[in-house]
Amino acid sequence: MAQTHRKIANQREDFHWKLAHQLTHEYDEIRLEDLNLNGMKSLWGRKVSDLGFADFIAKLKYIASKIGVKIVLIDKWYPPSKTCSTCGAINESLNLRDRTWQGADCGAVHDRDRNAAINIYRVGASTLAGEDVRGGSPSCPCG
Ligand SMILES: [Zn+2]
Repeated sequence: MAQTHRKIANQREDFHWKLAHQLTHEYDEIRLEDLNLNGMKSLWGRKVSDLGFADFIAKLKYIASKIGVKIVLIDKWYPPSKTCSTCGAINESLNLRDRTWQGADCGAVHDRDRNAAINIYRVGASTLAGEDVRGGSPSCPCG
């Protein structure tokens, strides 16, 4: 039992390092939604969610800092899935089963993952530029 556990742990370590190396060599900058695995899962498969995400991030940061790749973690207060990437309104009624949804204010139809990815990208960009992204208006300027 302990033997099996150790083997799994080692495989996990290997996988973490491999993935971290792969990502840092592929990208100059990596933006992640802090402590939310949805984006990771859709990109790299279910495997990621079974593994220690925090452990992986630590390795990723370590390698990134050595070779000069930027890691931007998006604060977990920010709801990228629920935020309309068209107008910025928050859809509080969105639940995990909703794969697509329509902005109540602006009428834009969103694919859940794509919408979240757009928002993560934008917040990452404005965080880097030193903007305060927390003051976003919840009302819809496009309606
Ligand atoms: Zn909208």
